[in-house]
Parts: sequence; C-alpha cells; structure tokens
Amino acid sequence: MFSKLSHLVRAILDSPNADTRRPVIDGNFESAVQGLYVIGDLAGAPVFKLAMAQGSQVADHIAAKPDAKTAASSDEPNRYDLLVIGAGASGLNAALGAQKHGLRVVVLEKSQIASTLEDFPEGKWIYAEPESMPSTGDLWLEGASKEDLLARWRQIVSEHHLEVRTDEGVVGLTRNKTGLFEVRTSRATYLATRVILASGQRGNARKLAVPGEERETVHHRLYSPKHYKDEEILVVGGGNSAVEAALALAEQNRVTISYRGSEFARVFKDNRRKLEAALKTGQLRVIFRSLVKRFDDGTCALSVEGGQVAPLQYDRAFVLIGAEPPAEFLRSLGLRLEGDWTGSPLAAAALVLATFLALWYLGAGHIAGGVTAAASLGSLIYLGVRGSRFAWLGFSFAVAYTIYGVKQAENFEYWPFRGWGAHAFAFFGRPWSFWYTVLYSLVMTVFGIQAMKRWGFDKRDRFQIWRYVSLIGFQWLFFFLIPEFLFQWAVKYQWVGHKLATDPNFAGQAWRSYGLIYAWPLFFYTFLDKPSQVWIVWGAFLAFVIIPVLVFFHGKRYCSWICGCGGLAETLGDRWRHLAPKGKTSRQWESMNAVVLAAAVVVTLLMLGRDAVTFFRKPAGVGSEYYHLFADVWLVGILPVSLYPFFGGKVWCRYWCPLAKFMQILSAAYTRWGVSRFAISSNDKCIACGECSRNCQVGIDVMQFALKQEEVNNVNSSCIGCGICVTVCPMDVLSFTAARGESELVQIT
Ligand SMILES: Cc1cc2nc3c(=O)[nH]c(=O)nc-3n(C[C@H](O)[C@H](O)[C@H](O)COP(=O)(O)OP(=O)(O)OC[C@H]3O[C@@H](n4cnc5c(N)ncnc54)[C@H](O)[C@@H]3O)c2cc1C
Ligand code: SF4
Ligand code: SF4
Repeated sequence: MFSKLSHLVRAILDSPNADTRRPVIDGNFESAVQGLYVIGDLAGAPVFKLAMAQGSQVADHIAAKPDAKTAASSDEPNRYDLLVIGAGASGLNAALGAQKHGLRVVVLEKSQIASTLEDFPEGKWIYAEPESMPSTGDLWLEGASKEDLLARWRQIVSEHHLEVRTDEGVVGLTRNKTGLFEVRTSRATYLATRVILASGQRGNARKLAVPGEERETVHHRLYSPKHYKDEEILVVGGGNSAVEAALALAEQNRVTISYRGSEFARVFKDNRRKLEAALKTGQLRVIFRSLVKRFDDGTCALSVEGGQVAPLQYDRAFVLIGAEPPAEFLRSLGLRLEGDWTGSPLAAAALVLATFLALWYLGAGHIAGGVTAAASLGSLIYLGVRGSRFAWLGFSFAVAYTIYGVKQAENFEYWPFRGWGAHAFAFFGRPWSFWYTVLYSLVMTVFGIQAMKRWGFDKRDRFQIWRYVSLIGFQWLFFFLIPEFLFQWAVKYQWVGHKLATDPNFAGQAWRSYGLIYAWPLFFYTFLDKPSQVWIVWGAFLAFVIIPVLVFFHGKRYCSWICGCGGLAETLGDRWRHLAPKGKTSRQWESMNAVVLAAAVVVTLLMLGRDAVTFFRKPAGVGSEYYHLFADVWLVGILPVSLYPFFGGKVWCRYWCPLAKFMQILSAAYTRWGVSRFAISSNDKCIACGECSRNCQVGIDVMQFALKQEEVNNVNSSCIGCGICVTVCPMDVLSFTAARGESELVQIT
C-alpha cells in the first residue's frame, strides 16, 4: 500500500518538467552548502541580461564578506578567494565583478568561453531582453549577432586579464579540514574560500546509447553546417535543434531525419513551415517512428515502426536529441534540488502520530501531553531544518489538521481535539471558527502583498497588482466582513427589510452569505437545508447565469481573481508555485474533479428529492455526510494546505474543486463553438527558457504552446487566467487575446 502510494507520488514528481528542478538557494544565491553559490540559468535567470545581473549581484555580496580576500596572503598553489565554475554570461560577469573588488579569482570552463553562445547556429541574432532593464557588470550586452557578442566577450576577458581555464571541467567538490573548498577538475585540484556554480542548464548532450555512437562520423553538436558538402547525412531527433540543423545541412547535402515520433509536435511554427517546404521540394526526407539501433562504417541499422531493422547509408550523423539535465552532477556537489524527497517518511509519520497522541493526552488534562506534543513538533522542525522534506510534510499536515480540525463546532472537533479544542482555541469570547477566518484573511493579506510586490510592483505589471487587490478585497469583504458582521447588522437594523429580518430561515443563517460569491457546487449547501427563497434565487442566478457569462469572457479567472480558496493558493501558495506537478500523469489526475462534481450533483439531487421520494432519504443522508467529510473538510481544508509547500498552491482548485470543473466544461464548450473570449496566444520570439511552464501554478507546459505558437485555452489546458506566465516571460511572447484573435482582452503594461 505504502509503496503504491509512494510510486504514485514519484510518478508525478518525476514528470518531464521536474527535470528542470533547480538547486535550493537563498536570497543571496547561497545554496544549502555554505559558501557555494548558484547563479545564472541554474538559478532561474532565463536570459543573458538577468544571468549577468545575478553575476554582478553575487560578486558584490561575496566581496562584502570580512574574509573575502585571504588568498593573496597564502602561499598554497592554486589557492583563490573565489572559484567560478562555468564561463557563461553569469560566471564571467561574477568573476569580472569580484576581480574588480580585489579578489583572487579563477574561472574553470569545461569547454570554451561562452560555449552555450558558441553553440548557437551561425549568425543567430541575440536579443538583449528585457529591454527595460539596463545591463550590469563589465560584460557587454546589446542586441547583436552571436559572432559579434562572442568577439566582444573574448576581448573583455583578455583586456581584464581574467584567469579563465578552458577545457577544464569540474568533476567534484569537497570541503577540506581548513574549511576551504577543494575543487577537482580533469587536470588539477584548486582551493577556494568560496565557489560560484554558473554551469548553466545545458548539461551533456543526450546520447542514444547504441553501439558505434562513439565513431568520428557521429556528432552530438552541429557547429557549422557550411563545413559539410555533398554528403549523405543522417540527423536523429525531432526537436527544434534537429530540425534547424537538418534544414541548414540540406542546403549542400542529402539529408534524412530519423525521428521516433509520428509528427514534429514541438518545433517552432517557422521551422515547421520551412520543413514542409523542404519536404515538398525533396531537399530532405523524414523517417518517422524510426530508431537507430547501431552505427556501422557507412551504414546504420534503423528499425522503422518497431519492425525489421534495415540498413541506411550515411557519411555523417548528427544525434541532436537534447541534453541530459545536470541533476546528478548538482547532487554530487552536495546541493539539494527543489522537490527532492529527502528524509524518512516513517520517522515523520511516527512523529505526527506522537504529536496527536500527546495532544489527546493533554485534552484529558495532563500537562505532560503538551510537553510531549511540543517535543514531537520540535523534532519534526529539527529534522526539517536538517534537510528532511518528509518531516516538513508531517509538520505542515499537523498544523493544517489542527487549524481545521478545531474549527468545527464545540464537541464536533476532530480527534484529538474533540471536547476541548474549540474551548482551548477560543479567544475574547469568540470561537475558533471566527479566529480561523481572521487568520485566513490576514495570511492572504500578508502573503498577498508579498506576491503583489513580486509579480506586480517588481515587474511593473498592473494586471497582477489589480489581481491581488481583487483577491484580498473579495476575501475581506465577502468572506469576512459580511458573514461575520455586516449580515448580522443588516438583520438587526433591518437593512434587508422587515420580512427577511424576521424570517428565521434567513436571519439565523449568516453562514449562507458566503453564497453571495461562492457559487454552487463549491458552496454545496446553496439549495440545501431549507434556505430562504432569496438564497435559492440568488444561488441559481449566480451558478447558472453569472458564472457562465463570466466564463464566456474570462475563462476560469474566477479562480485567480475572486475565489477565497484560489486566493489562499495565489497568496500563501505563491512561493511554491514552481512545485506544481507537471507532465502527463499530473494532468490525468485532474479528472478527479469530475468525480467530485458528479458526486456534488448526485448528492444535491438526492437531497432535493428526499422529501418527495422516500427511497432517497437514506442515500441522501449518507451521501451528504460523506460529501461533507471528504470534499468540505479533507479535500478543501486540510489536504491542500498541508500540500502547498510540496505541490504548489493549486491542489484543491486543480484536482478536486467541482466549480472549477463546471467552469472548465463551460469554457471548453465556448472555445469549441468558436465564441470564447479567453485564450493566451504567443508570438514567435520564444527562446525555450521554460519560465512560463515553471511558474504556472496549474502545471501547464505553457512553453510547448509558445514554441508551436498554439493558443492556450480551456480545451487544451486547465488555465485559470492568472497571467503569471505572461508576466514572467522575459521575451514578451505571451499575451491574453480573444480566442478568435480579434481584440486584446487585457493589456499588460
Ligand atoms: C535556443 C536558445 C536561444 C536563446 N536566445 C537568447 C537570446 O536571444 N537572448 C538572451 O538573452 N538569452 C537567450 N537564451 C538564453 C541564454 O542562452 C541563457 O540565459 C544564458 O546562456 C545563461 O547563462 P549562464 O551563464 O547561466 O549559463 P551558460 O551560458 O549555459 O554557461 C554555462 C557554462 O558552464 C560550462 N560548464 C558546464 N558544466 C561545467 C563544469 N562541470 N565545469 C566547468 N564548466 C562547466 C558550460 O560549458 C558553459 O560554458 C537562449 C537560449 C536558448 C537555448
Ligand atoms: S497558463 Fe498562464 S495564465 Fe494560465 S494558469 Fe498557467 S500561468 Fe496562469
Ligand atoms: S514563452 Fe515561456 S519558454 Fe518561451 S520565452 Fe517566454 S517564458 Fe520562456
């Protein structure tokens, strides 16, 4: 059972996009290994300018340390204040900055200076985005051809006499007894007080792992297509780099592409157009669903559609099937990667159980129970700080369960708080359910302001500022002030009229005012338990008129602008948005909200019909009880919040919310009928940095849509229109447009 569950969790975590997990670092780019910093692509800077900015920033930070300059006084060979791994944009700028501050610096580069740039195709234009931001540090950056940029960078390195050791890859790193880093390369060992890892995301070229792949005629990179003429060339791969290489090589050679897929699903629109034209003129040919089994001298063995292996002639082959992410290299340096499940799940589970048993003992009046509970929780925190992610999961669950379990009415609290929790957590004569709402609103406000700064003010994006103002505003007004105060005053002072104010089905049910904004089936009790007629009319109007109209114009923006559940996810959950599960398995899990929606419909109908049909009574009672327990308590309250730090904030909204599913069905239908006003479209400037996919809280691989310039809508995704992908894109690729591309729906500034 346990291994099945852990297998399911791993299936999500190990989804394709999880490959891009980054090392865990703090605000100064320092990793879990003290003195080891991570910058550039690896630390989430998706373009040169941002990578360079990180380089300058970390150089200033390190130079300000009291022991920043100690190497000069040492007579040990190969001893440096700062050792930089990787001579890319970020590493070079960091090294130049530190050297300017007077530190002894060396850069170790496994290939050549700016090798990532060098690997771009000849003549590629380099964009200096974001345009609004000036470039920092001594490295030069303006829009230029790859060759011009490379020449300028080499000149700068030589003018500044920066010590860059090329063709010297770092293979390992340890700390010696004196506290210095010992950095091993293929040639030597270096000592350094601090190390900056700026080795990029490229990793090593992925191999087919077939016999003969090491031959001189088989390459894993294409530097200059012009060097090859009148040859029989085989290109293996189906991504942009393979297609671009094949097109360039086809100008002077006979080219065959071998691809294991049945279509080029991931290539840029422009590349696809060029490819189709080349195929029409017979400039190159493609063998889909084919796999190279072996490279021999002049021929390779190719199996097509899993069938027989046939020989194919080639003079030269280019295997361009992407790069292996450098995860293992990073782990070998002692770095912790985001999302790595570390520690013992059993120890964490045992400590959670011990905490609750101790709390139960405390509830029975034994002070020792409180002490033990505090010790068990403290142990979870201790293990968490020592690096156990399972311990943090246990801690997070214990807190969320307590906060929600006590919120139930007196004597209905969950074990171990039954009979004493509500009383113990009541302050100033108010029950915990009131303080729960206060806490909820405060947490949303504090973290909402942080998120507003992160996405709104820092990125100068008015859309995000208004979005967070809306979320916080709806929370305070509709989910705190109205149910807790204004409703009672409206009844007391008869603002709602004498009739309603004296109707016990209205006046005594302040909790129904949540239904002003929460629509059925999210607000499951809209039509149940004898509501006043006003609530029935409003509930029906909200669910079946307002929501469909809203969805028509704005897709599922209710989730990212209005809803309190989505609000907590967008505010408290924002810091973990990049941990949202990605990939096929996680998308399949989204069908769970169809099950919850179906359950909500069935139970609602049974409840409504139980007075007329006696047979419905029992299933209606049982169904409502279980729906309350599973959906209203565990799925919306305890589990999602416990899981925020591990799977991002949108666990409930994405997997279980029945209203989200209802809106998804509506929005998809509008799109299919060609009338929807909601979609995200892309221009052709995507550089495949992955920032949009990484930051999508519902796990959509936005980059794949951007690369193909295909719109994101609610037929092909569960997009909630939060706009973070638009905000975060460094190349301004994405924008909200009407599905038919007629007019812009939202202008991001
Ligand atoms: C197709 C494409 C197009 C792009 N176009 C643009 C654009 O137009 N404008 C823009 O601003 N950005 C663009 N980018 C993004 C840009 O390339 C990256 O943001 C930038 O390269 C990141 O710099 P970095 O220093 O972090 O890493 P890198 O530039 O990748 O440098 C890392 C260096 O570390 C070296 N290294 C790796 N491992 C080791 C090791 N073990 N030991 C020693 N050295 C090691 C590598 O050889 C490499 O030289 C593009 C990216 C791609 C993929
Ligand atoms: S695709 Fe973009 S707008 Fe849609 S949910 Fe993801 S980040 Fe938000
Ligand atoms: S669309 Fe996505 S992957 Fe492409 S440049 Fe923008 S953020 Fe990067």
